[in-house]
Amino acid sequence: MCDKEDKQQLFSAMVNELNKAEKIALCGHVMPDGDCLGTMLALGLALRQMGKKVVFFSPDPVPDLYTFLPGAGEVRVELDQLWRFDLFVSVDCSVPDRLGHFQELLDRAGRVVVLDHHAGSVAFGNVYINLPDNAAVGEIVNDFLPLLPVVIDEAIATCLYVAIVTDTGSFCYDNTSSETHLRIAELIKRGVPAARINKLLYEEKPLVSLQVLSAVLQTLYISDCGRVAWMFIKRDTLHSLNASDEHVDGVINYPRMIKGVELSLFFRELEDGIYKVSLRSKYYLDVNILAAHFGGGGHPRAAGCLIKGDLEDIKNQMFQAALTALKDE
Ligand code: 5GP
Ligand code: MN
Repeated sequence: MCDKEDKQQLFSAMVNELNKAEKIALCGHVMPDGDCLGTMLALGLALRQMGKKVVFFSPDPVPDLYTFLPGAGEVRVELDQLWRFDLFVSVDCSVPDRLGHFQELLDRAGRVVVLDHHAGSVAFGNVYINLPDNAAVGEIVNDFLPLLPVVIDEAIATCLYVAIVTDTGSFCYDNTSSETHLRIAELIKRGVPAARINKLLYEEKPLVSLQVLSAVLQTLYISDCGRVAWMFIKRDTLHSLNASDEHVDGVINYPRMIKGVELSLFFRELEDGIYKVSLRSKYYLDVNILAAHFGGGGHPRAAGCLIKGDLEDIKNQMFQAALTALKDE
């Protein structure tokens, strides 16, 4: 957290880094989402207007859902060993681990700038900008772009719009502020075709996504107290449906819709004995703290962690921790 003056200083330190660098690498987190991709592309497109050489990286491929974003086709998942960069920009990563195999660029780049909005993150890099009051990293980039000699054109505005609309759950989550809406109004004035973008994001799902949802809903369990709901998916189920990880996105939101449910948990088997757990709360439970007990993190209403072990054990551990956290509230 920082006040207005600190923020201006951080912004000028970063603008200084961006001005100095010629060759710039931009990278988001593993299992990329709309915020890390949209923000990285928006910033990269802006830097290109300044004549910079920009390369986009993502530790996991761009999900089909986001391939419509301007510049998405250029995102690389492999690193050429010969490449050197003046500056590396980490986007939406609370810890270096979240950069996956691109962590090695932290040592290979001349300078490192970190852009983040997760509370309780670990500071790294030469210029560290973490503003947890912002709903999306896209909001941060939106706010400092006017300091650069660039025109926020339709392509840049669209990338920022997607970053913000996805990380605010279409402006439904607590992190949505009046400033969020003001930023969005400006982006729409820049030419974002908002209705079309929302159809692409939410109403052009492949059939297999609904088949995955149907399979996952079969595993729905609600605690006796009615406040915790969970679901899971195993690799076998994904294979049998010919589905991939991106077809699972969004299913976590369904249990939270149930009246009385405060906490929704979703266990996704990544490989044998390793589960990605997604946590979502509705009104008050801080899931960032709950996920941190298991080595993960995120935001107060949306967090995640990786856990090794047997699904029954993991579910029980999580459930006990959740009940304790709910009692403490
Ligand atoms: P999701 O459940 O959609 O993957 O992630 C929700 C939020 O939790 C995101 O903001 C993401 O940054 C964070 N998150 C998800 N998985 C992990 C993890 O393994 N470690 C940490 N530190 N954060 C995570
Ligand atoms: Mn984000």
